Amino acid sequence: MDKRDYYEVLGVSKDATDAEIKSAFRKLAKKYHPDVNKAPDAAEKFKEAQEAYAVLSDEAKRRQYDQYGHAAFDQMNGGAGFDFSDFDFSDIFGDLFGSGFGFGSNSGRRTNRGRRGSDKIMRVNLTFEEAVFGTKKTINVNVSEDCPNCDGKGGLGEKTCSRCHGTGVVTAEQRTMFGSFMTRTSCPACNGTGSTYDSTCSKCHGSGKISKNTDIEVKVPAGVNTGNQLRLAGKGDSGSNGGPNGDLYLEFYVKDHELYVRDDNDIYLDLPITITEAVLGCKKEVPTLYGNVKLSIPPGSASGDKHRLKGKGIEDLHTGTKGNMYVVLNIVVPEKLSRDQKKLFEALAETNLESGDQFKKLRDYVRKNV
Ligand SMILES: [Zn+2]
Ligand SMILES: [Zn+2]
Repeated sequence: MDKRDYYEVLGVSKDATDAEIKSAFRKLAKKYHPDVNKAPDAAEKFKEAQEAYAVLSDEAKRRQYDQYGHAAFDQMNGGAGFDFSDFDFSDIFGDLFGSGFGFGSNSGRRTNRGRRGSDKIMRVNLTFEEAVFGTKKTINVNVSEDCPNCDGKGGLGEKTCSRCHGTGVVTAEQRTMFGSFMTRTSCPACNGTGSTYDSTCSKCHGSGKISKNTDIEVKVPAGVNTGNQLRLAGKGDSGSNGGPNGDLYLEFYVKDHELYVRDDNDIYLDLPITITEAVLGCKKEVPTLYGNVKLSIPPGSASGDKHRLKGKGIEDLHTGTKGNMYVVLNIVVPEKLSRDQKKLFEALAETNLESGDQFKKLRDYVRKNV
């Protein structure tokens, strides 16, 4: 079955603001939430909206999606689309269905639940050839991971919190003009973790995290360009409290080539030729990405004339179709001439080389302009 476009799912335009996306999702969540809507397809619709919102509400993921479509997440997740199981919907569901709302096994223990690690973005420099043909790179990344001294807890000598008895949640009665309500909040004594400690860990100073340099092997696909991003799931900062790791995004920067100029998947080459080659025509050996080719330059060529070499451009990152190469002629006038060459040009200058009516047009105008 074809996956629906995330923007279509939420019923918003491609340039929708974050607020529009949030509001569209709230409407759908209210309508299709399985606790509210018992129609057989409601759960499926609810899940679809959740997935769309998890992607489009995250700036980095939305950019990925705009660039690659569903494929952005498929390759990382075995074709199952974006995995949003770690996404925290509680702020939305909280104000939609009341603060006690939760679903599944997380119900009621929200404050104690694991937090996902942060996403990281790193710039990766590539040579022109690496970007065009793909490559393997070893990249040194600096991400946070659990402190080994305290197992990521931030303290030593763990004890069950005496105030919340390890639940991480305290219940308080709140009186209002409509009656009294029991509200649950995160335990202030243990910050909702359910544990207190005898001493703060000296290695991580209580944060539970240390930063670590690691080398990771990355396969850069052929055809990437400056600004393209690659997502490495779970390679970002480590999560807290048993939460999953964040993702690592690699953003590519491609260096200029000494001869070729890239325009998307097309390549431009400036080909210098002499004045006689332009006038008389010639055959030229031209370098392409796929080896040299012989190019016929017809007699009477001018600077700026373009020759297309079909399919000699860059293979598209997604479709695999190749762009074109364009060879642009550049007549280079000699700065110095030998005595013999000068004589030949002088003899040539005695003849009439003016062709076309542009010379006459200019001459007539000069005459009138006196
Ligand atoms: Zn507590
Ligand atoms: Zn520590």
